[in-house]
Amino acid sequence: MPTDPTRRDFMKTTGASLMMAAAPATQLAPPEKQRPGLNIPKPPNKPVGWAIVGLGQLALAEVMPAFRETKLSKPVALVSGHPDKANQVAAFYGIDPKQIYSYENFDSIKDNPEIQAVYIILPNSMHAEYTIRAHKAGKHVLCEKPMAANVQECEQMIAAAKEAQRKLMVAYRLRYEPYNKAAIEMCRSKLCGDVVQIEASNMQNTRPPNIRLSKSLAGGPLGDIGVYCINACRYLSGEEPVEVTAQIYQPATEARFAEVPRDVLWTMSFPSGVHAHCGVTFGSSSSRHYRVHCVDGYIDMERPFGYRGQELRTYQQRKETTHEFETVNHFAAQMDHFSECILKDTDPLTPGEEGLRDHKVMAAIEESARSGRRAKVSS
Ligand code: NAD
Repeated sequence: MPTDPTRRDFMKTTGASLMMAAAPATQLAPPEKQRPGLNIPKPPNKPVGWAIVGLGQLALAEVMPAFRETKLSKPVALVSGHPDKANQVAAFYGIDPKQIYSYENFDSIKDNPEIQAVYIILPNSMHAEYTIRAHKAGKHVLCEKPMAANVQECEQMIAAAKEAQRKLMVAYRLRYEPYNKAAIEMCRSKLCGDVVQIEASNMQNTRPPNIRLSKSLAGGPLGDIGVYCINACRYLSGEEPVEVTAQIYQPATEARFAEVPRDVLWTMSFPSGVHAHCGVTFGSSSSRHYRVHCVDGYIDMERPFGYRGQELRTYQQRKETTHEFETVNHFAAQMDHFSECILKDTDPLTPGEEGLRDHKVMAAIEESARSGRRAKVSS
């Protein structure tokens, strides 16, 4: 998902001023030497230490800045193949440069008790390997979506977490923000009556160079942006799809779609008779939306999958209502949820099994598109 212009500007500013911004922090007078009465608050004590694996677009533009808004989570280590970049990021966020790891010495995080949680923000094809290695190192793992490259990898990741007796969570950040949570509650409470159909779309224009246009690294629009629609239809209906139909379009005339489709369109049938129709593309301008059609009205979300900017409306009895909630930083909220699970030894809301379910639906969508027939979702 591309970052919005504000964040891009932030990235540019951040990149340009990483070293400058880090310097003044080291020049602050220690509390005992501060002017009496100044009363500078102590830095908050955030109990759970995180290692960030992969310093790409999402990590730098969203995840690292989100630590400013966490209450329980702090960045203590970085894993990167680019030492210069990692050193700059470490200086900017006050991370000890000794806590920078490469992909080669990644396994030695097992000797670092400061790291409790590991956040995998790598290309999708690397999620399984680094999640399993982190579990073997005795760490809890938050893995970016889509969870892996296929169903089999998801199963291996879940097994690795079980064997290590560590927690595994998939970064479905929308389950931790108020707007999508409210839409789920509206569906469950039947605010507009029983759900009949759901439409969900997630569109963007993906231009090279981008890992998303590589079949081996990311696998195309279904896993990258389609997973949001699948996950949303599951959390809004509260059911698991049993059957799908699908179509994939890969224009031979556009070089950027040499390896991955441009469009994926599909339907999902749920046991109660609810149906969903979804569409994603890497070829149009950004547009994200879902609408839940109910017996007595509808629930409508504009930008449901964005980092911010959700707009939730309902329509019932010929009246449209706009619902407003406090906005939160999605990444801070999901990291703090996972930190809390670690501290209290509870299960995350979106564990590995949640990612596995989406991958089973994606496997059925791919099968249906290949065969031109309805495909069953494996249970
Ligand atoms: P990116 O290409 O900007 O970053 C990938 C990072 O992996 C880079 O730092 C790159 O150097 C590193 N890397 C290590 N080995 C690599 C290799 N062999 N080939 C390519 N890169 C390699 O990608 P991104 O947009 O930051 O996405 C990273 C992950 O985050 C993906 O799984 C993506 O689906 C996910 N993501 C999630 C959200 C969300 O809202 N939850 C948004 C964007 C991306």
